[in-house]
Amino acid sequence: MSDTPRAASLAFGRPYLAIPGPSVMPDRVLQAMHRAAPNIYGGEVYDVVDAIWPRLKAVARTKQHCAVYIGNGHAAWEAANANLFSRGDKALVVAVGHFGLNWAQSARALGVDVEVLDFGISTPVDLSQVEDALRADTGHKIKALLATHVDTSSSIKTDITGLRGVLDATGHPALLAVDCIASLGCDEYHMDDWGVDVTVAASQKGLMTPPGLGFLWFSEKARARCADSDIRTPYWDWEPRACGSQFWQKFCGTAPTHHIYGLSEALKMIEDEGLANVWARHRTLAGAVWSAFEVWGGGNPAIALNVVQAVNRGCAVTAARLGGRDATRLREWCEQQGGVTLGIGLGMAPPDDPAWHGFLRVAHMGHVNAHMTLGVLAVMEAGMQSLNIAHGEGGVLAATKVVSAHFG
Ligand SMILES: *Cc1c(COP(=O)(O)O)cnc(C)c1O
Repeated sequence: MSDTPRAASLAFGRPYLAIPGPSVMPDRVLQAMHRAAPNIYGGEVYDVVDAIWPRLKAVARTKQHCAVYIGNGHAAWEAANANLFSRGDKALVVAVGHFGLNWAQSARALGVDVEVLDFGISTPVDLSQVEDALRADTGHKIKALLATHVDTSSSIKTDITGLRGVLDATGHPALLAVDCIASLGCDEYHMDDWGVDVTVAASQKGLMTPPGLGFLWFSEKARARCADSDIRTPYWDWEPRACGSQFWQKFCGTAPTHHIYGLSEALKMIEDEGLANVWARHRTLAGAVWSAFEVWGGGNPAIALNVVQAVNRGCAVTAARLGGRDATRLREWCEQQGGVTLGIGLGMAPPDDPAWHGFLRVAHMGHVNAHMTLGVLAVMEAGMQSLNIAHGEGGVLAATKVVSAHFG
């Protein structure tokens, strides 16, 4: 039996996919991709590619190296692992959700000796435990510390400058590698200023381009330290991609021609807005989502944000619980009656556990604006009313106040 009413659906109209990724693809990006295949042996696509590299570095706030892969985030993880490590090298992974654990699994499968500090699904990284693990490694066997800037499953943001501080305080030489797949182009991030050696990202989240490109940015220090890494095979080697003189080396074969045009347009959109403004927009829209949940939770203790302290929350996605089956009911209602698709609660409970139906995520990453986020929240509130899910009154009103406060 369906929870949804028999009245005509209100979902007809432009659908909105508010799962954490793929994110909303701007029409400008899609239109830039809609073209005949360009020649890859010369001509305009060479100029577009040449222009993209410095712009990609600007988005990660680095002046060092950038390698692009045809692949998704998992490919970019594997690329990072293949370049960072030799078989038997040690990695220290700090995990705050599903994605950190999966990056660790990729390294383990490649023959890396992986130690995981698992902080669970709702608790931020405890820097003192990281410090203890680094101090215990008196032989400096740990070659790299792997962290997730914003874990998309839990929406926990990790304090990257804090990790850098712990590495410096302990005098540990491990390289610092950060998964910014969810956060790049959403949350404030400064690779060079924060002392990060490797940044990992993919095209389909804050970078507003269809899934299919993975990115690594790496420091000169990492390049030198990893020159002999023996997991690296020709396809994954970051060196020719970042520093090769031939066009084909940048992609180790045929260039992802249409993605290049789409990415170039997405970067232009970020540049037109200004990266600091992009971060500020995400901060405000995230704050609007959080304030709505806080009000809703005031009328139903089962409704709560996954991350208690705002300082530990990423600005690209919000993980929350509604309890019982209410998250699944609400997701289905929002999609079928309101035209907005919310994210499932990834990694919060096993999919075959009834508790799985109590979690959801709201994405607010990339090409999103005030009317989209306020619209999601209003549809959610209408859904809770329609489904008789108890909730505090006035969540949307609280969200509108966050949006108006953005302008002082
Ligand atoms: C989406 C995501 C991934 C996985 O990316 P895929 O493109 O699905 O392989 C990894 N890490 C984080 C933080 C993500 O948000």
